[in-house]
Amino acid sequence: MTQLIHRNLRVAPPTAVCAFGMYVRDGDGNTYLDASGGAAVSSLGHSHPDVLAAIGSQLKTTAYAHSAFFTTDAAEELAARLADGAPGDLNHVYLVSGGSEAIETALKLARQYFVEHGEPQRRMFIARRQSYHGNTLGALALGGNEWRRKPFEPLLMDVARVSPCYEYRERPASQDLQDYTAGLLVELEHKILDVGPQNVIGFCAEPVVGATLGAVTATPGYFQGVRALCDKYGILFIADEVMCGMGRTGTLYAIEQEGVVPDIVALGKGLAAGYQPVGAVLARSHIVERLRSGSGVFQHGHTYNAHPVAAAAALAVQKVIQRDALLAAVIERGVTLRRMLRDAFGMHPHVGDIRGRGLFVGLELVQDRDTKRPFDPDLKLHAAVKAKAMECGLMVYPMGGTVDGRRGDHILLAPPFIATDAD
Ligand code: PLP
Repeated sequence: MTQLIHRNLRVAPPTAVCAFGMYVRDGDGNTYLDASGGAAVSSLGHSHPDVLAAIGSQLKTTAYAHSAFFTTDAAEELAARLADGAPGDLNHVYLVSGGSEAIETALKLARQYFVEHGEPQRRMFIARRQSYHGNTLGALALGGNEWRRKPFEPLLMDVARVSPCYEYRERPASQDLQDYTAGLLVELEHKILDVGPQNVIGFCAEPVVGATLGAVTATPGYFQGVRALCDKYGILFIADEVMCGMGRTGTLYAIEQEGVVPDIVALGKGLAAGYQPVGAVLARSHIVERLRSGSGVFQHGHTYNAHPVAAAAALAVQKVIQRDALLAAVIERGVTLRRMLRDAFGMHPHVGDIRGRGLFVGLELVQDRDTKRPFDPDLKLHAAVKAKAMECGLMVYPMGGTVDGRRGDHILLAPPFIATDAD
């Protein structure tokens, strides 16, 4: 029998037959409250009329135009809007079809930047343990999620690793926040020196860690320290905002709240809020100018680069976020959501931490609140919680604990920005 390959090869998921506002309905008539926006994607909820209209209108005019032949107003307008809203001189935008493609693009752009400068020996990226940057081979190599990497390890490029900024679990009680942060920066500096700064292309991190840690924010000053080290050693800072960007944390770019400007930013998910598959890479002027005055081309490209319908959808999403003042709503509703979660689960014996920023919220599940001991990963507690939630008509995004016992199971909540207190 011919079959669609699902994520789980043994159990097919329910069939989504319609989706509206905060809800998705399946073929058996069950309705689910979308508390995770799928995987932090559906920031406007489902079937938003403005986005549907923009897609329809773009389809009727130019459904597709290959980027080797044409540009389109939708793509140009989206690029201008993303650049206008970005910090510093992140003025250049490259449009792709999703988060992993955005990361691949960022890696190649960063590498070509140094090649064009006569530094072809630069080949190393530094990234953090317990990070996730996507599932294609370059992005998978960059990420530090052991479970996802393991079967493909022989195919992955070599990436140097440092500790994540994961205060809840990794800061010893005897150490204050400032010392903890300083220690992480010393570790990063040592790693740069070990590899040799002349061999390093860039350091990549998520401003707020999503899929591997569950909405973990950095400690104060961490990203400023990262920026300073990248400047000191002439390496690029790449911010992966695929999950945390596009308003999810209450500012268009999550890194704005850290007061630094990365050299390259990767976007996906919330960019078009799930209405079309789209991702983007923003780059600072010095990067693109080096390529422009060098070879004159960025040696990259996919068939669906700057797809006009995807661009029109993303543009419409971004316009609604601005028109309806949804960034302010994200901050306010995020405070309410975390307060409600603390009221409900703050004393729960198996909820070790409730954290996050804006409408990007994580709950870490532990066996013991005092020792923070995680559940046995073989229990697959996160999967059981997801299944139970679905049974109850609720979508949450689960993540499992690691085999090395260094983190617990997490539940990520990333509801649409239109969520009300009642939702
Ligand atoms: N980077 C981060 C931080 C992500 O969370 C993800 C997906 O979860 C990706 C990259 C990859 O994006 P995609 O699944 O759209 O390829």
